[in-house]
Amino acid sequence: MASSLDILAPVDGVLVALDAVPDPVFAEGTLGEGLAIDPLGGTLHAPCDGEIVHCARTAHAVTLRSAGGVELLVHLGLDTVNLEGAGLELLVEAGQWVEAGAPLLRFDADQVAQQAMSLITPLIIAEPAGWRLTSRDAQRSGDSVRRGEAIMRLEAPLETTGVDTPAASGPQATREVTLGLAAGLHARPAARLRAIAHEQNVELELVHGETHFEARSLSRLMNMGLVEGDRVTLIARGERATAALDAAERLLSEAEANDPASSATELPTAEAGAGQLAGLVASQGLAVGPLHHYVAALPTVPQAGDDPARERVALGEALESVGHSLKTALAQAKRSARSSEAEILEAHLAWLDDPALREAAEGYIDSGRSAGQAWKDALDDEAARLQATGNKLLAARVADLRDLQRQVMACLGSAPSAPEVPADAIVIADDLTPSELTALAAQHPAGICLMAGGTTSHVAILARARGVPCLVAMGAALESVEGELAILDAERGLLEPQPDSASLEAMRTRIAEREQARGAARASASQPTTTRDGRTIEVCANVAGGAEALIAAQEGADGIGLLRSEFLFLERDSAPSVDEQRGEYQAALDALGGKPVIVRTLDIGADKQLDYLPLPSVANPALGVRGIRLWASHTELLNSQLRALLTLEPLDALRIMLPMVSGVGELRALRQRLETLAGELGVSRLPQLGVMIEVPSAALCAASLAAEADFLSIGTNDLTQYTLAMDREDPGLAAQLDVLHPAVLRLIKATVEGAAGRCPVGVCGAAAGDPLALAVLVALGVDELSVEPSRVPAVKAALRELDAAALAEKLPTWLELDDATAVRERVKTWLEVPVVA
Ligand code: PEP
Ligand code: MG
Repeated sequence: MASSLDILAPVDGVLVALDAVPDPVFAEGTLGEGLAIDPLGGTLHAPCDGEIVHCARTAHAVTLRSAGGVELLVHLGLDTVNLEGAGLELLVEAGQWVEAGAPLLRFDADQVAQQAMSLITPLIIAEPAGWRLTSRDAQRSGDSVRRGEAIMRLEAPLETTGVDTPAASGPQATREVTLGLAAGLHARPAARLRAIAHEQNVELELVHGETHFEARSLSRLMNMGLVEGDRVTLIARGERATAALDAAERLLSEAEANDPASSATELPTAEAGAGQLAGLVASQGLAVGPLHHYVAALPTVPQAGDDPARERVALGEALESVGHSLKTALAQAKRSARSSEAEILEAHLAWLDDPALREAAEGYIDSGRSAGQAWKDALDDEAARLQATGNKLLAARVADLRDLQRQVMACLGSAPSAPEVPADAIVIADDLTPSELTALAAQHPAGICLMAGGTTSHVAILARARGVPCLVAMGAALESVEGELAILDAERGLLEPQPDSASLEAMRTRIAEREQARGAARASASQPTTTRDGRTIEVCANVAGGAEALIAAQEGADGIGLLRSEFLFLERDSAPSVDEQRGEYQAALDALGGKPVIVRTLDIGADKQLDYLPLPSVANPALGVRGIRLWASHTELLNSQLRALLTLEPLDALRIMLPMVSGVGELRALRQRLETLAGELGVSRLPQLGVMIEVPSAALCAASLAAEADFLSIGTNDLTQYTLAMDREDPGLAAQLDVLHPAVLRLIKATVEGAAGRCPVGVCGAAAGDPLALAVLVALGVDELSVEPSRVPAVKAALRELDAAALAEKLPTWLELDDATAVRERVKTWLEVPVVA
């Protein structure tokens, strides 16, 4: 470890001695020693390397911890907490490691200066961890400094001599600690404690009252039921006993910096009023209904065991296999700096490795139960114990335990049947898999609210396809909502669990109005769609297979703009045969009765994985082998899909579309393959072959693609993700992932211009159904929109009201705007419709 630590100026500015700061809390050193700076820039940068240990909810302060344990508070301005985040933007999150100079917090200097007491920014050594402040430039108070200049220096503590702490050099050390964790010793600190013992290679025990608990066992630690203020003795054995105790003491005695579970509630969403919860609209609609918490059914396992020795082996193998998947996911989460997710996975791994849980399960095996049943029972017992502690945070971790229970049982049994939900309920869930959503939607819930998820995730796509109102990214607060009759407003992005009768009445009126409008839109849905300025736009549907294609036809779709063929391949044990595929594609063609049907070839990779087609685990799967790139290594899979497509009737109505194309070479290779296969099958006329524009390179090379493709279709979900470099599955970014970002719109414009005179351009991403975005897309010149079947009538009705030529005149200015919010605002005002996120 370095013996000194330089603290660098986080921004250009003028130094201010701490005692000259016009706020006694800082000036009197109550929070610690330090220095302040009157900033001249608009961004605060990290003053040293360190881990972000706290970000203020109101985005005005960040604390980071250096490798040596020094904690530095960087506090933008004075009394800025009262701004409630206005004019401030955090650029980091707790748990993230940053290097000196990394941007931490951006602020609007004019706004903050006007609304807060002062912009003077204290830099406080909130936790010296034994380090001494040896120099600071307070003597230069009033001098200008440049960002990155060293303004304070700390010296490392002298090595512990063993005089003060005789146990340090011995094999055993003890320490009394008062628990400072407001939420008690819950899963994450318990898992961290266990990790400390592992990292320092010591045996660590906690003693409370008369009882000793090993840190090795997460369940024993959690079952201690320790709460804030409890005194415990820590005993460490091993060469690095003192270091382990230091780390353990820091962990246990400090108030928790940031609970990732609760930080999930701070996602940017609509303004929630009192008694409301906000989320992002994944599928529009309104609903009133009782709340129902979704509990996924457990896999089916045999009750009784075979030979206990064999059952033990089976359990061991299942634990190992789940452990392997968790470790892979953990490595991926760490590589992608998804620290909250990594902590949860670490806790899962710790449970899995817990000797107490395994012993309990083996006890049940010895009493005659199967490995799966034994694991279930052991975890049920554990869950009951956690619930019985009465500690809300521990009880909340039962969800983690259930997750692990399910994963291990899945290795030892067979898939469960879908759980039943009451009719017309608003279903609450953590997250859902595509197949869970499909099974749930078949029971016609009034709506769905998810703690996780994003608006372009596949669950969102399926919810829209089925017309089920759905909010996502609602955060952990959703876990505890209850209500006999709740309101789901999936236009504004709000859930009101316990509305008063006036709100219920108002919502019922709105629902009736929407029904009426829908009825009117449906009546003319099968007619062609012409805008007010005379352009005819095709409105097609996005579907997952034949059954949805039938709904699309009934809703008046002019064709199928995207059949996501991968849905046929998901959630099964092996790929569908050529015949199975043919049956499904033919059903779609039949449903549309000769209207065009675009089938996209298998788009697997990143968020869409097949168990029977394991792809290499890479750091950035979204940038890895996916979509069309898969065909180099899985030629036969493609061949069988193309064979199935080439035998459909009528082939004139079929269009084949390629996903994730980044250049014209991929299109050429595919066309060649199609010709070869057609020759083998004796098919003389090839179906049209098109390309998805989902990555910036394809948009920028649209002219060369359009010269050889029969059509282009813009996949705005991926195009937005890749243009903004924001993961479409990340709930924390969902609110910023907006197709109306000027950069995305410029790429769409480039696509339309590149294709002009060569081939038509459609849009099949979620933007095509977004009331504001669809108007812009048509004004930019796209010829076709493809949306979820249930949205077809409404989209057609909206287009008939649109003067696309008049809107097009506005676009040159709007494409120069700063961000998506500014564009959305302009479009909304121009169209005079309410903004729907
Ligand atoms: C898209 O990326 O916009 C698209 C339509 O494809 P998917 O959502 O299936 O990735
Ligand atoms: Mg895509």
